[in-house]
Amino acid sequence: MAPSLLSASINRPGETSDMVQQWSRTMTDPSCLFCRIIRGEIPAKKVYEDENVFAFEDINPQAPTHLLIIPKRHFAGLKEAQAEDAEIIGRCHLAAAEIARQRKIEQGYRTVLNVGPGTGQSVFHLHVHLLGGRPLGWPPG
Ligand code: AMP
Ligand code: ZN
Repeated sequence: MAPSLLSASINRPGETSDMVQQWSRTMTDPSCLFCRIIRGEIPAKKVYEDENVFAFEDINPQAPTHLLIIPKRHFAGLKEAQAEDAEIIGRCHLAAAEIARQRKIEQGYRTVLNVGPGTGQSVFHLHVHLLGGRPLGWPPG
């Protein structure tokens, strides 16, 4: 997928792109599974990457399309998100929408963030699930 609108850098006031790149590289958790996937230490089927966002196939797909879209910068999940994370959370969703367009699943797809033990959240690096390609019941289980 062409980076297009999704790839513009997220510079904070006073930061240059180089600083952001350096900051992004260092803001990872060495023990986090998804940080390790981003760094290429654990294999994954990458479907999209830009400066801020990484997307790959879920290892245990629950639908014909089941991708995970994650910020490159580590934070645990929506519950832990700060105001400064608002833009990257939005960018993850815009990446999901673009991938859905490209996969022609716009008839119906779902983006999901599992938050907390009551949902079975098992990886504590924020991730947006993109599910589609089959009818998706409501309410979800
Ligand atoms: P959650 O339950 O919302 O925390 O979702 C975590 C997701 O990560 C699950 O759907 C898992 O199937 C998926 N997953 C776990 N390990 C890997 C991996 N190595 N590569 C790709 N997906 C993974
Ligand atoms: Zn991480």
